[in-house]
Amino acid sequence: MTGARGIPPGTHVTAHAPCWGDFDFAPAEGRCKTGKALMATCKPLLYICHRCPYRAACIRQVRPAQSQFSGICGGRIWLDGAIVEAAPDAHPSELPPPVVRKSCGTRAGSRAHRRAAEQQCPQCEPYYQPGRNPLDDEDQEGAQQCELPYVA
Ligand code: SF4
Ligand SMILES: [Zn+2]
Repeated sequence: MTGARGIPPGTHVTAHAPCWGDFDFAPAEGRCKTGKALMATCKPLLYICHRCPYRAACIRQVRPAQSQFSGICGGRIWLDGAIVEAAPDAHPSELPPPVVRKSCGTRAGSRAHRRAAEQQCPQCEPYYQPGRNPLDDEDQEGAQQCELPYVA
């Protein structure tokens, strides 16, 4: 995601990126009220990230996990800082390098890397498990809201 909106001050942006100036890559706050609405806006655009040479730089600049970003960045769709969809050729090496923590080498360490949307360190790699997709939670909430009350 490059362009004027949603980039922290001091961030380097490039007008050469294929998404330059397209505000649908970072829909304005409040425009997409649900994750599904965000997907409807962003998913048709994800192909633009295909083979973009700036994917790792894009993630480094926007820091989507830390900034709770919603939109497209680095070949991925993010919802409140979590990855909900990735381009088919997205690779973990595009994520920032891992921060080594005391919990490294455990499942908790692996989860901490995942939450920070960074690469897994070698000690945590064996413990890696994909996290829940926030869109699945939305599905469940929707299903619960649609449940009819029991009438005897
Ligand atoms: S990776 Fe996608 S969002 Fe980032 S600069 Fe490239 S086209 Fe834009
Ligand atoms: Zn680790």
